Amino acid sequence: MDLEQNVPLAPFTTIRVGGTSRALCTARSFRDVTQGLAWAASQDLPVAVIGNGSNLLIGDEGFRGLAIRLTGRLSSIVMRESGVWCGAGASLPRAVQRVAKHGLSGLEFGASIPGTVGGAVAMNAGAYASELKDVLEWAVICTPTGRRRVGPEELALGYRYSRLAPNEVVGAAAFRLTPGDPEQIQERLTEFRGHRRATQPQGVRTFGSVFANPPGGSSGRLLDAAGCKGLTIGGARFSPVHANFIEASPGCSSADVLALMREGRRRVHAAGGPILDAEVRYLDFEVGITRPPLGELS
Ligand SMILES: Cc1cc2nc3c(=O)[nH]c(=O)nc-3n(C[C@H](O)[C@H](O)[C@H](O)COP(=O)(O)OP(=O)(O)OC[C@H]3O[C@@H](n4cnc5c(N)ncnc54)[C@H](O)[C@@H]3O)c2cc1C
Repeated sequence: MDLEQNVPLAPFTTIRVGGTSRALCTARSFRDVTQGLAWAASQDLPVAVIGNGSNLLIGDEGFRGLAIRLTGRLSSIVMRESGVWCGAGASLPRAVQRVAKHGLSGLEFGASIPGTVGGAVAMNAGAYASELKDVLEWAVICTPTGRRRVGPEELALGYRYSRLAPNEVVGAAAFRLTPGDPEQIQERLTEFRGHRRATQPQGVRTFGSVFANPPGGSSGRLLDAAGCKGLTIGGARFSPVHANFIEASPGCSSADVLALMREGRRRVHAAGGPILDAEVRYLDFEVGITRPPLGELS
């Protein structure tokens, strides 16, 4: 197990803001993950898994616990007869491309979701009316005392939700896919990627959807209608391209992002809309991964 002290976490996220972790474990095997979790438990430290940090905001204060990242064998992709096995640190878009080449269909929705396979399981990532839950066969869950294989029911996957304890780490996942025409699969990937380029900000520091969609609605449309497109606080602004994305400019802090989220949520509510729930996860100094501290709206 590779353990470092006082490691800046911003570079491990796509929005690239936030502070330093007291410790970082770079795990290359299930055993490394288990050892890292056991070490954190022995020191009474909280743990936080960081995938590709593509839906994660690190607090400016950093983290007093152990951050865990998965690499090496835990980022490999292995074809199986009826699908694919992925280490949880593998890139989801890379897995999508790999299975497409083998003429396997079912994962296309993940072509432009820039996370890891573990992050996609933890978040039940989805797009284009499909979600990870539709294709997950089983996942390996690492704990401080060992590991076990679980089916999708045990994870209770819901809208951007999975039931994982704070000290449970997805170590790998297997997907059941269906044979399809490689050309048609590739066409779908091209179509999905083109749609993203046309509707979402490109080449900017962002963490994807800020707020979850309320039932039957669209957070992007609500934020847009409340005049949030382009709204800026400090180094953070709601994207002029898609209001449910926040873009960070140089010097942006996590506090800027949180202040902008609070203001966006306040404006939507003041305009008669629902109180939006954050989709992005937050790494809090004391407790680890939680919801962003947005406070109450009355
Ligand atoms: C441009 C852009 C577009 C996006 N589009 C979409 C989209 O269409 N659909 C969608 O669903 N999401 C989208 N996202 C958000 C994001 O990519 C997904 O939520 C993704 O699944 C997060 O994976 P990650 O590895 O980056 O996880 P992180 O952001 O690192 O972490 C997210 C959460 O998952 C947990 N986690 C990560 N890895 C593990 C693990 N191995 N075990 C246990 N918990 C873990 C973290 O602790 C955290 O709670 C987008 C993001 C961006 C930047």
